[in-house]
Amino acid sequence: MSRYDAVIIGAGPAGAMAAHEIAEAGFKVLILEKHHRPGRPLCCAEAVTRQPLHDLLEPLESWIKSRINRVKVFGPWGYSFEVYHPEAGYILDRTVFDYDLASRAVEAGCRLECETIGLRLECGERLFSKLEILKPGGVKNMVEAPIFIAADGVESGIARRAGIDNDIDPTEVESLLQYRLEDISLDPETMEFHMGHDIAPGGYLWVFPRSSSAANVGLGITIKGQRSIRLENLLNGFIESRFKHSKIVEKHCGLVPKYQGRKAFRRGNLLVVGDAARALDSLTGAGIINAMKSGRYAGRAAVEYLSGRITGIDDIEELYPGRFFEEKEKELDLYLKLRQMYLRLTDDEIKDIIEVLDNYFGGKTVRSVNAFKLLAHLTRTRPRLLRLVRHLI
Ligand SMILES: Cc1cc2nc3c(=O)[nH]c(=O)nc-3n(C[C@H](O)[C@H](O)[C@H](O)COP(=O)(O)OP(=O)(O)OC[C@H]3O[C@@H](n4cnc5c(N)ncnc54)[C@H](O)[C@@H]3O)c2cc1C
Repeated sequence: MSRYDAVIIGAGPAGAMAAHEIAEAGFKVLILEKHHRPGRPLCCAEAVTRQPLHDLLEPLESWIKSRINRVKVFGPWGYSFEVYHPEAGYILDRTVFDYDLASRAVEAGCRLECETIGLRLECGERLFSKLEILKPGGVKNMVEAPIFIAADGVESGIARRAGIDNDIDPTEVESLLQYRLEDISLDPETMEFHMGHDIAPGGYLWVFPRSSSAANVGLGITIKGQRSIRLENLLNGFIESRFKHSKIVEKHCGLVPKYQGRKAFRRGNLLVVGDAARALDSLTGAGIINAMKSGRYAGRAAVEYLSGRITGIDDIEELYPGRFFEEKEKELDLYLKLRQMYLRLTDDEIKDIIEVLDNYFGGKTVRSVNAFKLLAHLTRTRPRLLRLVRHLI
């Protein structure tokens, strides 16, 4: 049986960041990836806000497909507004990005095993002590470590089988369908969001440009109460009217679960990070930055434990998920409440909001957006929206 200081299951952004932290500190780390390489296959619209990414890592040119400077929002009955937001964010090439993040961990000394699946943790006397793995050719093996990190994404079988309640309520989850389109013509610096019950009931449709002739175009809706609605029909309808002669080069389906609070982040010496911990922005479904952050905090906490600077495993809680929550809890809670508010909106209210925001942003250059100020402005201008905002308090 092989022994490591830490074993990480999943080489997405969360796992790769955790692995890098632990390997850099000189510990022996194994990271497992079930696919033949990190970053493929992948289901993501690839958008990140600029500053949070730069705060984590200086991005390489090869990670960036396009630079976003403008956001356009379309609502029912042709209402829309746009915001000029210089350097708002990037559309990444996640195939390159994920691969590079994992390579960075390997350069720091981590061992990466692809086509290897983490199956199940086994408990020692009190803590998890071994992980059963499935290697290519169907060979099963055990690896031993004092710390395990579940970074295995939205389905996170590792955390669930270890007794963490991260079940996805099928009526609450957002289902997504995305096409990668080519042979289209669009502004490579503008992200589009489309809302309203005809186009994206209980969700939104996005057009994220990868260049002036290619884009990720997708639709996410909450299944609750609308099982009969077919994502494919809605998305095809939009593409038919907007990008009639486009070529669909990839199709992806995925799920975005809701953030569930602290319960999904740790059990004993198993730290759970990224989508596996449901560390997503519940309103937009964005999770890349939170995956990287939670991975980094979990990796640092593991280093403190492995170096003996904290002794009892429960003292790790203050570092992970504690430090992550110090930074992100308010935001994650707010986005969860905003999602609940968003799901209650009628088309008439969406139209109202778009009108107010058009006045608020119209013609201005915006450098940052404060969600609390924006909500205060909305309710001052349209008091009837107060019924929705009440749920945020
Ligand atoms: C359609 C869609 C669009 C999205 N668009 C955006 C967006 O524009 N911006 C944004 O910020 N977020 C977006 N997201 C969310 C984003 O993709 C995730 O939040 C992010 O990938 C989470 O990173 P992660 O490392 O936690 O998990 P993942 O990226 O899912 O990585 C998990 C890794 O673990 C591997 N794995 C799983 N199980 C095992 C196992 N048992 N053993 C070994 N390896 C395993 C997987 O193969 C994978 O490589 C989108 C999601 C969807 C579905």
